[in-house]
Amino acid sequence: MRKPIIAGNWKMHKTVEEGKHFINEIDGLVPNEADIDTVICAPFVHLPVLVDLVKEKPVAIGAQNMHFEEQGAFTGEVSPTMLKDLGVDYVILGHSERRQYFNDTDQTVNKKTKAAHQYGLVPIVCVGENLDQREGNQTKDVVKEQVTLAFDGLSAEQASQTVIAYEPVWAIGTGKSSSAEDANEVITYIRSVVSDQFGSEVADKVRIQYGGSVKPENIKEYMGQSDIDGALVGGASLKGDSFLQLLEGHKG
Ligand code: PGA
Repeated sequence: MRKPIIAGNWKMHKTVEEGKHFINEIDGLVPNEADIDTVICAPFVHLPVLVDLVKEKPVAIGAQNMHFEEQGAFTGEVSPTMLKDLGVDYVILGHSERRQYFNDTDQTVNKKTKAAHQYGLVPIVCVGENLDQREGNQTKDVVKEQVTLAFDGLSAEQASQTVIAYEPVWAIGTGKSSSAEDANEVITYIRSVVSDQFGSEVADKVRIQYGGSVKPENIKEYMGQSDIDGALVGGASLKGDSFLQLLEGHKG
């Protein structure tokens, strides 16, 4: 049985004070760690405060990106060692917004995925097709290439501990979500890609989230599917009550 994992992606939202307020709002109401992994992925400036605030709570903190080098002359970047040292547990890698606006490629995502494992962070690797690719029936080819390249060179153990987020680009922040059945079909296919690369034992363990306009009203449909293990949520993760409803929805 794969443990569900619901991650909020705050993107570039909230001041540090607003982040603290959010943690106060959800305090004592987050479901048990034995049933679900709850993650909040926040902008870098929030991370020290959030890590401190969620100590002893069933909530883990993630970053939204990082560099793959341990240190060096990379102005404006943050390294895996810095995140690990703070007590950050997760890092989103290759989000479509980073691929689109900040030149993340399958190659840099691969380097970052390897670096995350090397430094003890759990990578949440985002893959997904854009609208043209969807309409051109290329969805499976696109996600196969993205997953295969991101996972290239990982050990079986590292592969099994990587979280994948399938996020069709056309569904992100648009209110247009993929139907639960369509998302499950692609996610089942992604699992078969991992199986071809690492074997069925690894593929059975890998957790694969759906992301793209997930909200309290539709989360149960996704979580009720055979191969969807959780959600990566942007807009609907920004308010405490909405985030709590998403967590409740993990039962499917
Ligand atoms: P959304 O974003 O839930 O606002 O569509 C999802 C994401 O980009 O991770």
